Amino acid sequence: MKILVINSGSSSIKYKLFDMPSELLVKKGVIEHIGEDGSKFKNHYSGLKIILQEAELVEAVGHRVVHGGEDFNKPALVDSRVIKGIKKCAAIAPLHNPANLSGIMACQKLLPGVKQVVVFDTAFHQSIPEFAFIYGLPYDYYQKLRVRKYGFHGTSHEYVAEEASRILKKPLNKLNLITCHLGNGCSITAIKQGKSVDTSMGYTPLEGLVMGTRCGDVDPALITHIMHKKKLDTKQMDRILNKESGLKGISGISNDMRLLDEKASVGNKRAKLALDIFVYRIRKYIGAYLTVLGELDALIFTAGIGENNAAIRESVCQGLFTCFKKKPRIMVIPTNEELMIARQTYKLIKK
Ligand code: ADP
Repeated sequence: MKILVINSGSSSIKYKLFDMPSELLVKKGVIEHIGEDGSKFKNHYSGLKIILQEAELVEAVGHRVVHGGEDFNKPALVDSRVIKGIKKCAAIAPLHNPANLSGIMACQKLLPGVKQVVVFDTAFHQSIPEFAFIYGLPYDYYQKLRVRKYGFHGTSHEYVAEEASRILKKPLNKLNLITCHLGNGCSITAIKQGKSVDTSMGYTPLEGLVMGTRCGDVDPALITHIMHKKKLDTKQMDRILNKESGLKGISGISNDMRLLDEKASVGNKRAKLALDIFVYRIRKYIGAYLTVLGELDALIFTAGIGENNAAIRESVCQGLFTCFKKKPRIMVIPTNEELMIARQTYKLIKK
């Protein structure tokens, strides 16, 4: 069965065509500049039309959807209830869900009768218990505004956890894991007996680790303090926290770890400081999640930095498990979110 996996962003559509269940990648590509001035793609529909010209034979489509809120804890077949749910979550993911939805709508028009499945970034984390997902804020903000920890990168954390289970030859529901997704966006998840029980990203993907351009955890009182001192409005503050902070903000050089490594190795102090902070924050979360889990079978690294940067992995792991009787495995597992979406789409459709 040919399954097309679509990752529809605000101005781009990334796609991969898989043959399932062989998992053979038949084709992949990206269409960019959708809706931008001078672009030949006015909207997602015209972009997808080009993709589908090449990708005939599509028998099912799997869509990445960023936010499924509390309504979705697993993949779902697209119907009017699901579309309504994605629209509802657009209030908490205004940049992502509408773009994801445009891809779904375009596919419905272009591939009438072809089954479509949505796979949510948040779904894997819906097993996090209430005491870990409620913030120390007035409770009615949760009841009325759905303010709580959701967590992201769920498809990636779940994929590497499944791969670990396969490699370690142990069922996933018998494994305790800490998975570190370290790319431009970074998050870390505590997995107890195969289920996510805590994760570092929160209501938005800004919380937790220090990332390429996102600040991660900061004292919340700083936000109003900085806005006041620098005379910033909410939009400007939001941009600074998301685009001008993290490795880029600390180093004043770049969000790219490769460049920071290079600069740090020739004595650039701010680049070195950015790397030290990055590593320290990861170690702090690992320490916390070791307490959450009690026992650990494996610590897993994935994504651009996690997969490719051995020096960062080594610094993170330095002296970490010295007091453990049975040492956890340390694993590098390349993530493959698109394949996970294809697998989940195939599984749902076969049902
Ligand atoms: P995204 O979250 O945008 O998908 P990636 O997972 O590609 O990002 O991660 C980007 C980060 O990974 C960058 O900091 C980059 O320097 C680092 N990175 C990516 N590939 C390599 C590589 N081959 N060697 C070292 N670092 C890499």
